[in-house]
Amino acid sequence: PAGVFSAGTAQRLVNMEGYMPGREVVILGSGDIGLIMARRMTLEGAKVHVVAELQPYSGGLKRNIVQCLDDFGIPLKLSHTVTEIHGKDRVTGVTISAVDDKLKPIPGTEEYYSCDTLLLSVGLIPENELTLGAGAPLSRVTNGPVVNESLETGVPGIFACGNVLHVHDLVDYVSEEAAQAGRAAAKYVQGGNKETAEPLSGGIKLEAKGGVRYTVPSIIHPENVPDTLTVRFRVGGIYKNSFISVYFGDQRVQHRKKTVMAPGEMEQVLLKKADLQNIDFDTVTVTVEAE
Ligand SMILES: Cc1cc2nc3c(=O)[nH]c(=O)nc-3n(C[C@H](O)[C@H](O)[C@H](O)COP(=O)(O)OP(=O)(O)OC[C@H]3O[C@@H](n4cnc5c(N)ncnc54)[C@H](O)[C@@H]3O)c2cc1C
Repeated sequence: PAGVFSAGTAQRLVNMEGYMPGREVVILGSGDIGLIMARRMTLEGAKVHVVAELQPYSGGLKRNIVQCLDDFGIPLKLSHTVTEIHGKDRVTGVTISAVDDKLKPIPGTEEYYSCDTLLLSVGLIPENELTLGAGAPLSRVTNGPVVNESLETGVPGIFACGNVLHVHDLVDYVSEEAAQAGRAAAKYVQGGNKETAEPLSGGIKLEAKGGVRYTVPSIIHPENVPDTLTVRFRVGGIYKNSFISVYFGDQRVQHRKKTVMAPGEMEQVLLKKADLQNIDFDTVTVTVEAE
């Protein structure tokens, strides 16, 4: 039936083309776009009945949960998903069910919501057509290119940043990353970087472990690092009162307490060039530890 839209399509219709996709709305997925669309549709006069989220936590920023749902009294149902869409020509309703810890719907928990629109906001991946076209290897976790300390991809002279590299929630990090990639590209043009013939070979491997899903970059050539290298990453679940730790080989060199870490919020650690230079190991590990 008509009335099932991706949140991005709904954004385009509402924000750019001036059309309302519908009036009675259910949203599946509580990442930032799902949350923002709950508020947008409400401000445009629609009734958003519920936001359903498969995971036991929201994938969005805390402030978006507060400002986009709580402020408008829109319920968020964690560990729930849409199990049926009703309607023939147009959506007339959806069934939402609770899911167990394996994310499978639990029979008997079905609830019917009358609605004319279902917005799907179930995850973003980097726009990678250009990356694929260039032949740069992709990370299986981020779906963006694998990069080294200079944000250089596997194709010498091609650098990546922003949402092409990995999905960002805050534009501030995109700006920083863009400046870093720009500086590295300028240095490359001037013939400044070493090891550029094979950007992803040699160097120190950055490993994501224990709840850290990935790191950007994933390879470091210490000689090309500026004074400080920012390593960005996301965790794969909610961690409370845990530590972000960095190991050089077997030696723990950073151990920082974080009250809360969540998949929706990008994290970072800083590595100093001086510390990376005189080392006799080939792996740096970023991990989450309980204590
Ligand atoms: C719904 C939503 C809400 C957000 N809200 C916030 C917020 O409140 N605060 C915040 O800090 N961040 C927010 N973000 C995150 C932030 O907007 C992004 O992380 C940031 O815009 C990414 O910047 P970018 O330059 O990498 O990509 P984009 O901003 O997406 O820019 C990429 C540009 O490249 C163009 N392009 C694509 N392909 C080609 C091509 N082949 N040739 C030429 N041009 C091309 C695109 O048209 C686009 O203009 C939000 C993101 C989303 C999706």
